[in-house]
Amino acid sequence: MSTETDTDLARVAGERGIRYFLISYVDLFGALRAKLVPAAAIGAMQRDGAGFAGFATHLDLTPAHPDMFAVPDPASLIQLPWKPEVGWLASDLVMDGAPVAQGPRQVLKAQITRAAGQGYRMKTGVECEYFLLTPDGEHVADPHDTQPKPCYDQSALMRQFDLIEEICDCMGALGWGPYQNDHEDANGQFEMNWDYDDTLVTADRHAFFKFMVRTLAEKRGMRATFMPKPFNQLTGNGCHMHVSLWSLDGTINLFHDDDGELGLSDLAYGFLGGVMHSADALCALFNPTVNSYKRINAPITASGATWAPNAVTYSGNNRTHMVRIPDAGRFEFRLMDGATNPYLAQAGVLAAGLDGIAHRRDPGERLDINMYEDGHTLHDVKKLPLNLLDALRLLEGSDILRAALGSPFLDAYLKLKMQEWNAFMSHASTWERAHTLDI
Ligand code: ADP
Ligand code: MG
Ligand code: MG
Ligand code: MG
Ligand code: MG
Repeated sequence: MSTETDTDLARVAGERGIRYFLISYVDLFGALRAKLVPAAAIGAMQRDGAGFAGFATHLDLTPAHPDMFAVPDPASLIQLPWKPEVGWLASDLVMDGAPVAQGPRQVLKAQITRAAGQGYRMKTGVECEYFLLTPDGEHVADPHDTQPKPCYDQSALMRQFDLIEEICDCMGALGWGPYQNDHEDANGQFEMNWDYDDTLVTADRHAFFKFMVRTLAEKRGMRATFMPKPFNQLTGNGCHMHVSLWSLDGTINLFHDDDGELGLSDLAYGFLGGVMHSADALCALFNPTVNSYKRINAPITASGATWAPNAVTYSGNNRTHMVRIPDAGRFEFRLMDGATNPYLAQAGVLAAGLDGIAHRRDPGERLDINMYEDGHTLHDVKKLPLNLLDALRLLEGSDILRAALGSPFLDAYLKLKMQEWNAFMSHASTWERAHTLDI
């Protein structure tokens, strides 16, 4: 992030021709909420925030609560490349003059502050997979994209060139450093990669990326979805996160150690130990929907592999494990899916990693096996939860995550997610009818 950010949004608007600002925030369910504010009004909004009725979004507030204000962070400003008269702003939530503790961006900022207090600065990159579908969400948008093994398919990639190019050019114009785009392992599935950055920058970009992809796909008559498992037989949407920890000035990768196993330091292995120790409880954040559990623990897909984990294990450059070490100086956490909240995913990793460092948690032995073929031969590895309810209960019982993330956030999150689970359970599915009607 540039250190020369002009923090006076009214002036920036004049200089850059921004006529409207989207003052946005992400709620606990990961939904982007916003007010569209004309540039003439941005001065007061920047000072006081844009007002929202918190109850109307997923934050565990009541209709009787006072107004909540979203105070924009000028450092997060993104001028929409496809609509330059609009500037997007991530914001922090405030009520009665105090931060709203369960606001996801606030939750991440609290972890960043904790890490900074210990001399650490986390940098991450995310891989946000998505499907391009017909507007009704029923079918893959490209009717010719039907190969059983479609990963990296050049023709299917190039049939979506106009959209991919537009999104990639946007990322380039924004200075994100996009470096590759590909067709992924499911029909209709794509991934676009850009450079890692500070955790908060990546979280803001992650939120914006989803908005950008949906918007630009919609313009071309398609529907983009990050849903974890939109089709039973196809590989789901992952959201892998690559992670390293740096010195506060951002110049030294503290995870990198040429003498360490696979180029990773003791500090890195402690961090990894912490994430593995809390991984099952973290599923409630990384895999936050009912549908998420159809991606992890999934049966083999039409392509031959799910590419999603089912147990808490790590390996070297081997994609069948929950954690992969692709290179010296970083981990790839492969558990997160497309529904994960951009801020809570980062906060969860950092909180668990700091716990691992503090308690020198041992990640155990690296496993160099094909988990999909030989995972069943392991008897002492922790399995991932099989559904959202189990994950929520694990999160509820995690003293480590409660201490790190705070009860105001944790209780609000668990309450709303339990309501979601209960809503799901009150709805009988077509599968149930087919399997139960004649019993
Ligand atoms: P793969 O598909 O092999 O998992 P990708 O190239 O799709 O990897 O994504 C890798 C991500 O990891 C990118 O966002 C990249 O910038 C990021 N990355 C690379 N090095 C680091 C690092 N040291 N710390 C954090 N993220 C990193
Ligand atoms: Mg009103
Ligand atoms: Mg990738
Ligand atoms: Mg991928
Ligand atoms: Mg990956």
